[in-house]
This record gives sequence, C-alpha cells and structure tokens, in this order.
Amino acid sequence: MINPATEEVVATVPAADAHDIDRAVARAVAAQRSWAAAAPADRARLLRRFADVVDTHAEELARLEVREAGHLIGNARWEAENARDLLLYAAGGAERLLGRQIPVPGGWDVTFQEPLGVVGVIAPWNFPMPIAAWGSFPALAAGNAVVLKPAETTPLTALRLAGLALDAGLPEHLFQVLPGHGHIAGRALVDHPDVAKIVFTGSTTTGREVMERCARHVKPVTLELGGKSPNIVFADAELTAALDPFSFLDNSGQDCCARTRVLVQESVYEEARAFLADALAAVVVGDPADEKTRMGPLISRRQLERVRSHVPEDAPALRGSAPDGPGFWFPPTVLTGERPHSAAAREEIFGPVAVLLPFTDEEDAIRLANDTPYGLAGSLWTRDLGRALRVSRAVRIGNLSVNSHSSVRYWTPFGGFKQSGLGRELGPDALTAFTETKNVFISTEGPSQ
Ligand code: NAD
Repeated sequence: MINPATEEVVATVPAADAHDIDRAVARAVAAQRSWAAAAPADRARLLRRFADVVDTHAEELARLEVREAGHLIGNARWEAENARDLLLYAAGGAERLLGRQIPVPGGWDVTFQEPLGVVGVIAPWNFPMPIAAWGSFPALAAGNAVVLKPAETTPLTALRLAGLALDAGLPEHLFQVLPGHGHIAGRALVDHPDVAKIVFTGSTTTGREVMERCARHVKPVTLELGGKSPNIVFADAELTAALDPFSFLDNSGQDCCARTRVLVQESVYEEARAFLADALAAVVVGDPADEKTRMGPLISRRQLERVRSHVPEDAPALRGSAPDGPGFWFPPTVLTGERPHSAAAREEIFGPVAVLLPFTDEEDAIRLANDTPYGLAGSLWTRDLGRALRVSRAVRIGNLSVNSHSSVRYWTPFGGFKQSGLGRELGPDALTAFTETKNVFISTEGPSQ
C-alpha cells in the first residue's frame, strides 16, 4: 500500500486467492448459524460494544485512512465517527427487525425477516472505511456473517475494523476481511454458491459483470456504482453557497456523489464563472494530515493518468494549483468550453474536475440534469419553493439535496437511479435488505382431511 501524498510504502498485504475465499466462506457459514440463533438483543449488545471499541480507536482509524487513501484528516475523523454511529444504528435495528401478522381466514399468518446467511461485500478505494461499514454492519445486525473484499490499494482500515470486532467480542469468523484482486478474490466471492448476497460498490463496468455473475446463481445484489451528478443553480439562488467548490472537490473529486456538472442559469453564468475562478485559486492543496489543507492527492498514479487523459492541457478551464511530486497531484479544475454531450460532460472522471454549463430555464435544466447515464446524487438551488418541488420530482436522481450539497446520512436511504446502481443502503430499510421474508400460515381449523 502506497501513501498517495508521499509515494512511501505504508504496508504490504498478502492477496487472497479463490481457495482462501472458499475457506473463509466455510468458516463464515459455521459462524453465522449461532449468530442467527442468538437473541436480537444479544447481537445488539455486542454491536454496541463494537461501536465503543471503534470510538476508542477512532483517531487511529482516521490516521490510517489518511495514510492509505490520502483523505483529509478532518474528513477521515468523520468517517470513523460514521462507522461508530452506523454500528449503533444497526444495533437498534437488530432489536426492531419485526415480522408482521396478517389477517387471513381459517388461521393465523405471520411473517419473519430471516437472515440470508453469508453476505459478500466488495468495496472500492475511494471511501474504504465508510463503504466497508455500510455494506457490513447492517448485514451483521440482521444476523448474517460477512466476508469483505476491500480494494487492492486500500485494505488497511477494513482489516483494522475486523480486528476491532474481535476485540469487542464478536464471534470469530463472523466478519472477515480478505484483501485481494478483483478478478481473483472478488470473482471468487461473487461466484461462491454459499454467498447468499453481494453488495458491490465500484465502477459501473465492474458492477455490470458482478450482476451478470450473480444472475447465474439468482443471487441478490446491491450495486452502488458511478455518478456524474448535477448541481442545478437557478439565478435566484444564494450563489456563494450553491457554487461551493468542495461540492466537487471533496476527496479530490473521487466521490461518487461529486457535483461535477455545474449547471448554471445563463443570466448568472458569468458571475458564477468569476466566483469559481477565485474559489479554485484559493483552495489549499497538499498534505492531507495538515488540518489547514483543503484538498489532498489522488489515490494512485493510475488514477492521475486517467484524470489527465480527460483534461487536455489546452482545454479552456479555470484552474487552481497543486504541488509537484512526489505524490499524485492534480489541480482543482473547472472546464468551461465543454458541450453538454462531450465525454467530459457526461462521463465520470473521478478527479477534481467539474464542467460548467449554462441552461436557459427550468425545462432546460431538467433536460440537462437527466442527460447522463447516471442518477446517483445532485443538488438544486433556488428560493422558489414551487420550482424546487417540481424539479425535485422531475430529475432521475436517488439522492437529491435542495439548497444543500449533503448526500449521506446513515439514517436515510442512499443509492442511485439508472446506471448508478440497484437497491439502497443505509436508512430505515438497511437491515431488511439483508433478510428474506418468510410467510407462515397456521391453520386454526385442525389438519385438513
Ligand atoms: P472498481 O469497479 O474498479 O473496483 C471496485 C471493487 O471491485 C474493488 O474491490 C475491486 O477489486 C473489485 N473488482 C474488480 N473487478 C472485479 C470483478 N471482476 N469481480 C468482482 N470484484 C471486482 O472501482 P474503483 O475504481 O475501486 O472505485 C471507483 C468507482 O466506485 C467509481 O466509479 C465510483 O463512482 C464508484 N463508487 C460508487 C459509490 C456509490 O455508493 N454509488 C461509492 C463509492 C464509489
């Protein structure tokens, strides 16, 4: 593992192969049986203890995320808190995972929310700790075991979380983390017949393959995929808040929810352009462990090359500055000469790069906002309540914020429309997504003849 801000080796970690996955799944199957049989209140108690242990180690986890993923220290602290809070939320969910009683003639009808068994979680490198937590903790709370494969470049926080789970007293083999390559360990997990569900977060291309493989086993899958999210700014909006450059620069733009399509009503386009030029120039890019830094490095040289390939040096753009190497640095950038159908305007770049596009009126804004294959997140800025309500319903987006850029709360649902994914994580239904509904009818009229 390489520190992306310095290019120093942080750690080396062995890669699991298909046999390792096989053995891990077999151990998970055994561990899950007794976990599922435990009283929900007992599972909840252990998960709360796990949350306490995460809390005690929050600073350590945050510093690890800074070193292996280049996250800003302030953001990484939030991520550790998010993992702790999600554990507490999921623990409460375990106690409230109720069945129903449905009136039927001739008997009683009851439903049970039964755990699936072993859940496979495949995580990307951009938010290693939160995504490990989101896929795993609700699954555990619902009575499942988890085998998690982190991304090749960022396994360390997930490995540490698995160690902390044991420290907290969670049963052995209930939450296993196996680093490895996607096409070896990832595929083996997806294809394993004893893995009952896959939660995949990553690119749309890989997500498609995962879904195809799951289809062969009729295996349920949750997909959290790419995004190219709009920020729709009407002329009556509070421009300084609406055009906050960290809506697309957070995590150096390596954020599936990044508002990288800045759609601005034409009457304020020039004002927006001038504001963004000043805002980019003021962004402090550098050491992510320094509290004053506002943007860190990209994850890897490969990602840096990928971002560069989308942004020709002579492209019309507003640009901030970035340090020279070592480290994988790219300056905050807003492309100003793109057409709505250009690759840069429609495809996910996954770096600190946005496109600025004008729109004429409400209808044009909706058309532009929907004109991508993605539908993960977005923002809408206006003081007109009627317009806010109309546009909110017209856009094909899973997570929309009105007069805000926030996307994620552990207690509200998260997921995408269109090619941004399938299914939802977090929120009140997070645990149910890791259960099967069983319906039992009990006759009150004696055995039928
Ligand atoms: P990726 O698809 O390359 O890899 C994601 C994970 O899948 C990694 O662990 C990888 O090892 C594994 N993998 C690769 N090939 C596989 C295969 N054939 N079978 C099984 N597993 C395989 O994605 P990435 O580059 O790590 O992450 C960036 C992408 O993730 C971006 O597109 C981003 O938008 C997306 N993302 C989405 C969300 C969301 O919630 N929608 C959140 C974060 C990131």
